[in-house]
Amino acid sequence: MDEHNYGYNLSISEKTKMVPWEEKVRVVEEVKSDFRFKEYLFGCLNCGVCTASCPSNKFFDFSPREIVQRFLENDVEVLYDMMHEYIWACSQCFTCWIRCPFGNNPGGLVAIMREVAVRNAFEATKELLKPYGRVLLKVMTTGNQLSADMLQPDLFPDWGPKMADIMEDLKAKRLAIPFDIGKSVKTAWEVSLETIIELYTIWRETGIFEMLEKLDPNLYNVIMDIVEENEERYQKLYEGEE
Ligand code: SF4
Ligand code: SF4
Repeated sequence: MDEHNYGYNLSISEKTKMVPWEEKVRVVEEVKSDFRFKEYLFGCLNCGVCTASCPSNKFFDFSPREIVQRFLENDVEVLYDMMHEYIWACSQCFTCWIRCPFGNNPGGLVAIMREVAVRNAFEATKELLKPYGRVLLKVMTTGNQLSADMLQPDLFPDWGPKMADIMEDLKAKRLAIPFDIGKSVKTAWEVSLETIIELYTIWRETGIFEMLEKLDPNLYNVIMDIVEENEERYQKLYEGEE
């Protein structure tokens, strides 16, 4: 990650320094025009409670208080820069929202900033999200998040050496779970075709497929082939042909 250091020693990363001012204003205004924005930002005591309770702050150069302050100051330069790498350190736990005495939602602001970053297809965002392609493929084709067989130590080295122990005898461990999880290591749970079709409808209507196309056109094509196949299956079922 580039050096950020947004506090007193403000330092904008080299990648965004050269972007024209008008473009930065346009992007920040896109964030502020989101219908949720006015419900996520009210004012700030500068108490630091959000940052003190933020799990990402424990591990990264990242502060929800800083995000709130920059919006209140309308610091376009820093906000635009934050949208490239900084905001991706947030784990979207929303502890900041629960704890803030003003009712601000810094995690919600991050969510809007992320959506705008993806819609604008920032190169830094594409690069950062590349490793999540497999997760997106899984979610968007099966309706599942991570499945047990994806928890490979070499794929998630940041999860530490214990991953190798967890993967040992994985199938037996999954079978030992007392409730129905489909007895599989390839899916986390069973999702019906009807539910998957509903998810496709939501993703189409809310522009998620469009965002995916901008983020990773190859992944988009792979996913859309599966989407179309499932929609065709559903159509046949609906018409009583299968
Ligand atoms: S939602 Fe993000 S900013 Fe808020 S506490 Fe969680 S990790 Fe920190
Ligand atoms: S907890 Fe709320 S009031 Fe306190 S610094 Fe964070 S955003 Fe500002």
